[in-house]
Amino acid sequence: MQKQSIWLKDFKNNVTVLDKDIDCDVLIIGAGITGLSTAYHLLNNNLKVVVVDKDEIGNDVTARTTGKITYLQELIYTRLKKELNEEVSKKYLESQLEAIDILINIIKKEKIECDLEQVKSFVFTKDKKELTKLKKEKELLEQFGINVLDYNNAIGVNDTYVFHPIKYLMKLKEIILNNNVAIYEKTNIIEIKKEDEFICLTENNKIKAKKVVLACHYPFFLFPLLFPIKGHIEKSYIAAIQSKNRQMSMINTKIPTISLRYHNDYMIYLNNSHPISTNNNDQDNFNNLINTTKKLGEIAYIWSNHDIITVDHLPIISQITDDLLIGTGYNTWGMTNGSLAGKILSDIVLNKKNKYIKLFSLKRHKSLNTFVNILVEILRNGKSYTMNKISKDKNWYSANLEFQKINDKDIAIYTDDNNKKHIVYNKCPHLGCSLIFNEFEKTWDCPCHGSKFDIDGKCLRGPSKYNISYKK
Ligand SMILES: Cc1cc2nc3c(=O)[nH]c(=O)nc-3n(C[C@H](O)[C@H](O)[C@H](O)COP(=O)(O)OP(=O)(O)OC[C@H]3O[C@@H](n4cnc5c(N)ncnc54)[C@H](O)[C@@H]3O)c2cc1C
Repeated sequence: MQKQSIWLKDFKNNVTVLDKDIDCDVLIIGAGITGLSTAYHLLNNNLKVVVVDKDEIGNDVTARTTGKITYLQELIYTRLKKELNEEVSKKYLESQLEAIDILINIIKKEKIECDLEQVKSFVFTKDKKELTKLKKEKELLEQFGINVLDYNNAIGVNDTYVFHPIKYLMKLKEIILNNNVAIYEKTNIIEIKKEDEFICLTENNKIKAKKVVLACHYPFFLFPLLFPIKGHIEKSYIAAIQSKNRQMSMINTKIPTISLRYHNDYMIYLNNSHPISTNNNDQDNFNNLINTTKKLGEIAYIWSNHDIITVDHLPIISQITDDLLIGTGYNTWGMTNGSLAGKILSDIVLNKKNKYIKLFSLKRHKSLNTFVNILVEILRNGKSYTMNKISKDKNWYSANLEFQKINDKDIAIYTDDNNKKHIVYNKCPHLGCSLIFNEFEKTWDCPCHGSKFDIDGKCLRGPSKYNISYKK
């Protein structure tokens, strides 16, 4: 059993690191599905576009997704109708159908070999009380003109897909490079300043840009976005299990999510989703996945992933200011929404009309439900930050961990099986939350906003921009 995402086994990449100061018209920060889709749609427009990523292309949330391309997304349409209104619900459906068209057209036009398969998608429930909700979702989808398959405890649609997200991004990178757009990897942006143009700083260099697109998943600065009140982070555990391919994908109606799809000779099974600030014992969370899937077959790959759940369940694909744009908050549906963000953000850059700009704008209509959810996020963040500071109940604590204060700084020491000591600062450089040791993956995880560090403190995933390695 390998403790890594199944998609990464096929990842082959040559990295160019930024080693000089440069100028461009558009800087895209982040080379996941959002960043590379945006770069793709900006090709051949006489703009000097540059993409940077602090890691390698795709090697964050996109590399750990389940890779379904579907508009059947739990009970999203009845939820949007109830919490916002029917018009928003219908428009969101249209946006997802268009997103699928955009993605499939790119794959076909560019002849991208990314294991694309058309499959049926289902939403199911094992809970009788959820059946009425499922029926309402079906009726609403039919009212919007969708042909819905009806089963005892599930609804389904025909025209959806699954693919290999990393094979897709590897080819997208090749196309982008062949069109003279520079992609710098292992290039971390640590600060963005606005002068007459944007000055984006890495540790050693600066990039001057007229426009900046933030495609970095969780934004790495607090103001003016105040992202912690716009949503929370949900974490899930995923296993690729040896299995016969049944060419379909499924998800249940409610949290904790159970989701599955097939890829070649594997079933990809996800369970145990929870807000990142709760349920912090990852050894237990992974064991739960292992025990649940034991009867299904042998686990070949196992990993975890997290995504942003927004307060109104709509993505944020928007201008922040005239020249600063963002695409994020996909509520675990980033294959469609990240692809769509590429089109919308490039249309904004190119001053073109796009019918979804208002729907996904930061300034969109807020309902009473949205305000209630914002309040929930404020309380959740406050509670998670405070409890994380004062809680003595460290149920994730393992015997080979010790904590000390050195020069008034919180230090954590992990002693590995070879008796080697790994010393880190036990504080997330993003907003100061205490970190939790994830015994299963041997990482330090932030329970507030999802930053992840390796055993020696190297920052693996943001929003932290810095390492936590201890320096004497
Ligand atoms: C468990 C799980 C399963 C999912 N399954 C599905 C699915 O089946 N279908 C679906 O549609 N969606 C799914 N999603 C959602 C989807 O995976 C994500 O929404 C999507 O991958 C996000 O893409 P992104 O490009 O915005 O972010 P990322 O892929 O995280 O890309 C952001 C990039 O920005 C870089 N970056 C960050 N900070 C900086 C910085 N300071 N400087 C430079 N670079 C930086 C990172 O290194 C990273 O490469 C799933 C999500 C989860 C958690």
